[in-house]
Amino acid sequence: AHEGILRRQAARESAARTYARALPIVPVRARGLTIEGADGNRYLDCLSGAGTLALGHNHPVVLEAIRKVLDSGAPLQVLDLATPVKDAFTTELFRTLPPGLADHARVQFCGPAGTDAVEAALKLVRAATGRSGILAFAGAYHGMTAGALAASGGASDVRVARLPYPQDYRCPFGVGGEPGAELAARWTESILDDTKSGVPSPAGMILEPVQGEGGVIPARDDWMRRMREITSARSIPLIADEVQTGVGRTGAFWAVEHSGITPDVMVLSKAIGGSLPLAVVVYREDLDVWEPGAHAGTFRGNQLAMAAGAATLAYVRENGLAERAATLGTRMIAQLQCLADDFDCVGDVRGRGLMIGVELVDPEKPPSSPGGPSPAAPELAAAVQRECLRRGLIVELGGRNSSVVRLLPPLTISDEQASAVLNRLADAVADVAK
Ligand code: PMP
Repeated sequence: AHEGILRRQAARESAARTYARALPIVPVRARGLTIEGADGNRYLDCLSGAGTLALGHNHPVVLEAIRKVLDSGAPLQVLDLATPVKDAFTTELFRTLPPGLADHARVQFCGPAGTDAVEAALKLVRAATGRSGILAFAGAYHGMTAGALAASGGASDVRVARLPYPQDYRCPFGVGGEPGAELAARWTESILDDTKSGVPSPAGMILEPVQGEGGVIPARDDWMRRMREITSARSIPLIADEVQTGVGRTGAFWAVEHSGITPDVMVLSKAIGGSLPLAVVVYREDLDVWEPGAHAGTFRGNQLAMAAGAATLAYVRENGLAERAATLGTRMIAQLQCLADDFDCVGDVRGRGLMIGVELVDPEKPPSSPGGPSPAAPELAAAVQRECLRRGLIVELGGRNSSVVRLLPPLTISDEQASAVLNRLADAVADVAK
């Protein structure tokens, strides 16, 4: 069955398949961190539906919440009508919002994917400000629809000014840490204040508190505060894309909490649906300029996703899973640092909470700048991913050159499971480094 399914889907599906190419498995059962394939093999899943599964696969509280809706006879398709299920979801969502936003927030259900919510956020700030341009960052990923893609580096009719996103390991200015971040902030200011820079008075700035697809690059808290300062001073709405960083993933319920800033708009998806498709934009109520019907869509009322999502949000909050992600993540990152000490091909280990990246480099090649890091090694990263899979560990790749091995385990991962993940990854790296 396993080989037949893989062969048929490879023949029938679009060539754009991505996960299925790198991970030739056929999941048939799953629980927590573990997936069982049609070939009978078991895998530790650190891809977690691209960071969707805060509680892992088929968590009992999520299944129970879904069953409750199914057994209640509630309608499953209700467009955007008010229902008790939606009421419970928004109550729980508002309970978790950062303090500065919680009291003055509106939510717009979008649907069903993260990219839809990004699109809605861009549209919202354009409508609210009457301006059109968007400020986005090098290396960003916001989705695959036209506006989101433009903000990610693709092409569309949305005019996007790309700004430097500072990073310690491959800082575009050749300096890491605070000086690099401050230079990036000043560059941003100078572009905005230069009337001849070609940057139109922007409708909004969109940023990820930790770039995920871009290679797990956490923003420094002081840089986040500078971005808030710069946008506030110019009345530019700040959009935090927390599609991947939200719901405890980075060690705070929302990643903006690390820096203490309050964004004007938050884009939320992935884990908020408790494994089912759900996406919302939450924003300051005075930005709510939309007329009835200004942002519509058929699938904005996924009752099962709202029930699964409410259960997930409550579980993460009540069980302190953000704090758990912070302590376990710190420990895992420290242990992975030993890999970097042992193997020259491990150039950098970084992350925040349980959003962790290991960058593979080619130490044989000269660095692109004197004293800088060795060039990225995408082929080594792909080899590590393959070796991990052979050892029953599913990891994702990311980064500007696909040279970063990414770990996004469920927040419920146990200490023993975390050790098993690290051991398998270390063995895979040792094999590839030979
Ligand atoms: N924003 C961020 C930060 C993401 O990581 C992603 C998906 N990886 C998206 C937006 C797009 O979400 P979706 O794939 O559900 O459209």
